[in-house]
Amino acid sequence: NLLKKSSTGDYTSKSMDDFTKSIIHGDIVKSWLKFAKDRKTIIYCHSTSFSKIVAQEFRNAGINALHADAKTPSNERNKIMDSFKQGQIKILCNVDLVSEGFNVPDCSCVVLLRPTESLVVYLQQSMRAMRYQPNKHAIIIDQVGNFERFGLPDTDYKWTLEDREKHPRKDSGSTEGLQIKTCPDCFAVIKAECVKCPICGHDFSIEIRKIKQKKDQELRAIKAEKFHIDLIAKKKVSELTSFKELTMYAKAKHYKNGWAWHMAKRKGFI
Ligand SMILES: [Zn+2]
Repeated sequence: NLLKKSSTGDYTSKSMDDFTKSIIHGDIVKSWLKFAKDRKTIIYCHSTSFSKIVAQEFRNAGINALHADAKTPSNERNKIMDSFKQGQIKILCNVDLVSEGFNVPDCSCVVLLRPTESLVVYLQQSMRAMRYQPNKHAIIIDQVGNFERFGLPDTDYKWTLEDREKHPRKDSGSTEGLQIKTCPDCFAVIKAECVKCPICGHDFSIEIRKIKQKKDQELRAIKAEKFHIDLIAKKKVSELTSFKELTMYAKAKHYKNGWAWHMAKRKGFI
């Protein structure tokens, strides 16, 4: 992993530079065309220079995109914002601009290109596309894996200061316990309990049934083994007829590891 944390807890700009170099720029445009074509889109980058490159990539593909940041002169910035609101500009690339009371209700797509360890940054950015409008369906294209750390932005986060342990933040970057899954048809990341993909309608019922069957099977196997061990434990050592039985016996009686082996040797099982 190229990402390195600074003393403030989030990633250093140098490591984000390295990381974003590993993103294939053509793929940013390609996935937007595939999943969010013609949507009013905000793209969050980690640096001004990267944001400008991304805007240029979109313009190269014939899509109207501009970059703006806090250092853009205010009259120019206002002009850019206005044409974004009115729809002449499809894509607004920025670093941290759009967090300051910026309201574009019909923005329905956010592209995340800024890896973050901060849940607040993640929510601020991804929720930008989720401002309510009737029949609106927001799309978040996360190309830096933030969802792997935090889950879906509409997860019920427990905001307490006392139990930081239970905070949804994950240091390992694993999705385990986050209750999300990826749709095999459209690659949307959705809630694990979805029976139908809300994006493409993919039906998960067979898969869910298979998982349940597998769990039941495992549970039955565990129960059967336990039953077997209980039976063996009731026997005398002289009644045991194989190395396997001796091992089970040793396990039930909490004997040391070598016991079963020595006994099996003595009885001529091995
Ligand atoms: Zn799907």
